[in-house]
Amino acid sequence: MASQSVTKVLSQDLESTLREDRVFPPPPEFAAAANIPSLEAYESLYARSIADPESFWAEAASELHWFEKWTKVLDWNLPNAKWFVDGKINLSYNCVDRHALSDRANKTAIIWEGEPYGSDGTSQIRKLTYAELHAEVQKFANALKSLGIKKGDRVAVYMGMTPELAIALLACARIGAIHSVIFGGFAANAIADRVNDSQCVAILTQDTSYRRGAQIQLKKTVDEALANTPSVQHVVVLKRSGAEVAMQQGRDHWWHDLVAKADPTCLAEPLDSEDPLYILYTSGTTGKPKGLVHTTGGYAVQTYLTTKYVFDLGNPNHPDDVYWCTADIGWVTGHSYVVYGPLQNGATVLMYEGAPNHPDFSRFWKIIDDHRVTIFYTAPTAIRAFIKWGNEHVEKHGLDSLRLLGTVGEPINPESWMWYRERVGQSRCPIVDTWWQTETGAIMIAPIPGAVPTKPGSATRPFFGIQPEVVTREGDPVPAGSGGLLVIRKPWPSMARTIYGDHERYQKTYWSDVPGCYFTGDGARKDADGYYWLMGRVDDVLNVSGHRLGTMEVESALVAHPKVAEAAVVGRPDDLKGQAVVAFVTLESAHNSAATTPEALAALKEELKKWVSKEIGSLARPEEIRFTDALPKTRSGKIMRRLLRELATHGTIQGDTTTLEDFQVIAKLRESEEG
Ligand code: ATP
Ligand code: MG
Repeated sequence: MASQSVTKVLSQDLESTLREDRVFPPPPEFAAAANIPSLEAYESLYARSIADPESFWAEAASELHWFEKWTKVLDWNLPNAKWFVDGKINLSYNCVDRHALSDRANKTAIIWEGEPYGSDGTSQIRKLTYAELHAEVQKFANALKSLGIKKGDRVAVYMGMTPELAIALLACARIGAIHSVIFGGFAANAIADRVNDSQCVAILTQDTSYRRGAQIQLKKTVDEALANTPSVQHVVVLKRSGAEVAMQQGRDHWWHDLVAKADPTCLAEPLDSEDPLYILYTSGTTGKPKGLVHTTGGYAVQTYLTTKYVFDLGNPNHPDDVYWCTADIGWVTGHSYVVYGPLQNGATVLMYEGAPNHPDFSRFWKIIDDHRVTIFYTAPTAIRAFIKWGNEHVEKHGLDSLRLLGTVGEPINPESWMWYRERVGQSRCPIVDTWWQTETGAIMIAPIPGAVPTKPGSATRPFFGIQPEVVTREGDPVPAGSGGLLVIRKPWPSMARTIYGDHERYQKTYWSDVPGCYFTGDGARKDADGYYWLMGRVDDVLNVSGHRLGTMEVESALVAHPKVAEAAVVGRPDDLKGQAVVAFVTLESAHNSAATTPEALAALKEELKKWVSKEIGSLARPEEIRFTDALPKTRSGKIMRRLLRELATHGTIQGDTTTLEDFQVIAKLRESEEG
């Protein structure tokens, strides 16, 4: 994967636009009641976790329920890790039973809000206590068993955001079946690819789901996919909307029929710590998606602990927290921070079925006020959309219940970070910018909110037990302030163990580029305070007249311009400079092409070029600026720069587009060439 371009990356000699001097200490009232209350507490625990990671992680593991204790914390033979060797554990037990069988039995585990408003002007709301969740998970686990599904079988899950989706995961985990969740926005061929890759024996789906006012035909799409998936014997269909769907006798079963017949008791299976828990495919931002395999014990421990410390959950001072992570369960963020992490901490988790802009742009803010959400975790792409839609939608709502904000998925431009802090967090809430990957399973770099001062645009410092480093291709550390490759030195409990069916690709992709290290594929810089600044994908790094530039830096300069909503920057081969900077820019609603004359747009292009020269230096000045209504994104909302690079270079796109969110964007981008 890594080309020559990774030998030396990112700008060292250009003045940074990231303004490292902006520092926000944790608010004292937040820190006073936090799980980790001070910088000293963070630093001493971090030092201890690095001096002896195995006893640190063993201590964390002891907070969970094990049927049998491990005999050895870590067995490491690069790139093969075994954590909590011989330990017997069940993640469904730790998420559900541990609370349902305690005095938390009647605490709300899940609050769910459906997207559509009924004729009475209200949306559908469901609440499940831990005791109720326990009952549902047991029944559905028995339903799966009644179909002959057993430990080790792969079960595909293609559903909308319903409580049953969480129940499905927990039921699989309970019996040791390996779930493979496929985001509910994918088309039939993407389902078939994933189902066939891991030979799933069953697929769980629903009639339709609601998204942005429309009904998404999940069952119909599954039927199309199943024309080419010989391994699937059973389809379980949840009735969500009651829409008419075709049911194939013998193969298709209604969820409610199976559950009605199911025995109410299903004890959690004691699983080996290294038994696989799930398979999940990456977003496809940089190429064809990879099917990562996560196992049970280590994943349980790190998702539990990161949730406890980064989101300050399970905090006895805040028993009434309502936690909302807006990610779809189709992505790793939904696995680790909608389901497994918060439920292990006995939290109240909010799940919302639909889009942020339905029926209008303030839906998220209304949900926060209606349910008194205290912790809110979303993605930079959503934050940029909120900014584009205008402040008035946020300002209509009180948002006074919030105490902590988070972001994940892409580097967040500092200007978006500031907007998030001031408009949503009302300058009261700390922001945790969490860096991690499908491969890492859990958060790796993020501020501990009561302890670590934040800087806009930086994921700040590593989580306990994690040793990231910024290095050259040879693996030598670069000096503070210089760009390089982000690697992780030591194994960590929630690391993916392999790519399903292709261990060689796993070894080659992650463990071969930099000797002895896990290579993340991301470029980063560590500042003099030990803060990490993610600079973008190493493959996207620009080389202009021999200078390395991170995409993040130029994009952040553009986004800082008051008329710019979003920007994606790529390099086009240039005889003179090596690469020329090409910027694709979307404008704030009031300035887009429909609202502005061609002359004004041409003037704005010049203005933006000058702006970048002034902010970063003339080296970074875009050779070309293209205005477009939308950027190509993955279905998880990340900008696909590789497609823009192809377009800027060849005028066509040939790379893998299976995870592209909106195919029409490509046509619009072509038009941007003339515009
Ligand atoms: P693929 O691996 O198929 O290209 P992907 O890398 O987008 O897809 P994910 O595992 O969902 O798939 O995303 C992880 C990547 O997202 C990271 O490697 C990083 O580039 C980016 N990322 C996630 N969180 C952050 C963050 N807080 N700051 C900067 N970048 C982030
Ligand atoms: Mg990736």
